[in-house]
Amino acid sequence: MKDECGICGRVMRTTYMRQCQRCKKLFCRDCMTPDVATGDPNAMLCLHCASRIVSPRTVSKYAGLEGHLKFRSAFTDTVKLTFARIDGLIGSNLPMAAYRDPLWWSNASSSEHAKAWLNAGWEAQEVNLKEGYVVFKKVRVLPRKAKKKKLEITQPFTPVPVHRPRSKVPSKTKASKLYARIKNLERQRSMQQPIRGLKGRPPSRSRLTDNKPQ
Ligand SMILES: [Zn+2]
Ligand SMILES: [Zn+2]
Repeated sequence: MKDECGICGRVMRTTYMRQCQRCKKLFCRDCMTPDVATGDPNAMLCLHCASRIVSPRTVSKYAGLEGHLKFRSAFTDTVKLTFARIDGLIGSNLPMAAYRDPLWWSNASSSEHAKAWLNAGWEAQEVNLKEGYVVFKKVRVLPRKAKKKKLEITQPFTPVPVHRPRSKVPSKTKASKLYARIKNLERQRSMQQPIRGLKGRPPSRSRLTDNKPQ
């Protein structure tokens, strides 16, 4: 018996999978974490549920689906989405009702999830619970915020300036300057040889700071 992990989508034997304590669906072990509240290693949570517990949502659970359909409406009239894909879009798991009850997919604006695709201008046209997918049909074109986008596009295209990598070989003048500087430093060092502790402050300097007039 094999099943698909609801998060990463890998298909594997169900014996390698665990059931999430919250949504009761099967996931691979990589996509699960022990429940922090209980610390019980047998009470595993899927990463979707774990993140929901840590940071409860403030926007609609299905905003990701709405956004996706709005985006697709620019290119197509029909979109087929697997339930696993929708899980990915909404960053959560569809409820069990979505897998069991075709009525869950009805285009009733009273339900939070249907509102998501209706707001985007789409309707659920066909649902296949056995194969786990739904087909959405675009029913209206939203008054898109195209004006803003058009303004952006009317600007002339300016290519990104290309930065040529600087030659790693220093120029001859630069090299000779550096060489001269090194020579200078060497000469200075050899002149200061008798003095110990080059880094120590010369006494005249400290006296100057001490006797600063106020
Ligand atoms: Zn997984
Ligand atoms: Zn879960």
